[in-house]
Amino acid sequence: MSPLATILFSTAALMTSAAHSAEVELWRLDCGEIEVRDLSLFSDTYNHVGEKRTLTDSCYVIRHDQDYMLWDAGLPAGLLGATLDPSAVLAPTLAKDILTQLAQIDVKPEQISRLGISHNHFDHVGQAATFPQATLMIGAADLAQFKADPLPFAVNPALLKPWLAGGSKVDAISGDRDIFGDGTVTILSTPGHTPGETSLLIRLAKTGPVLLSGDVAHFEEQFESRGVPGFNFDRAETLASMERLMGIAKALGATLIVQHDTRDIAKLPAFPKSAR
Ligand SMILES: [Zn+2]
Repeated sequence: MSPLATILFSTAALMTSAAHSAEVELWRLDCGEIEVRDLSLFSDTYNHVGEKRTLTDSCYVIRHDQDYMLWDAGLPAGLLGATLDPSAVLAPTLAKDILTQLAQIDVKPEQISRLGISHNHFDHVGQAATFPQATLMIGAADLAQFKADPLPFAVNPALLKPWLAGGSKVDAISGDRDIFGDGTVTILSTPGHTPGETSLLIRLAKTGPVLLSGDVAHFEEQFESRGVPGFNFDRAETLASMERLMGIAKALGATLIVQHDTRDIAKLPAFPKSAR
């Protein structure tokens, strides 16, 4: 194609895409709870010594016209109804699985064509294997860690068996990714918690832009205190990623949602209601 033809062609393509803007909808699912008996594990700046807190575990469903995507897959279904271990520093439990919640909004598991994972920890990939038909979208550096020896903290390859065994499709992400090519849903590279950690930007027509933090932060105070979990992959990268999310939130006027912070659940409509 000549350069002029290329320009004309892309202009026509842009006009076509402007004529139809995709309908985007977002639901927040309950994907478990983690009781933290020593919150200072999550902050190396001594801000929370001796504190206890319950973290929530969030998953999200995104509809882009007819395409459904799941963002994070929560705690493993084996934890359904688990009683909290009184002696554990971190005690996880799950009240409802993802399938049950999808049924409530009339979404069949096979309709989930993309499974975006913020990072490789067990509390974000727990129920992934329920969706083997979905293309797994995960940071390339996080994917590589499933083959590390020894395995890093909280990384369990059994939870991603359909993809790691080679049967299901994997899309390893480097940098940012505009998933549908129209800027409505973008995976953002925000490394630090893990080497390939990502966040998600969703641009909703009525609600406006929403930023899902992954585990760049685990609770709101960390943005202010610069508290970083001692077990993070890279402290400096974590701070740079916090900076990036705050910058984007400010520039776009986006709602920044810390996925593990129970206080941020209310930033989206209560399930089964959705944000549009
Ligand atoms: Zn987490």
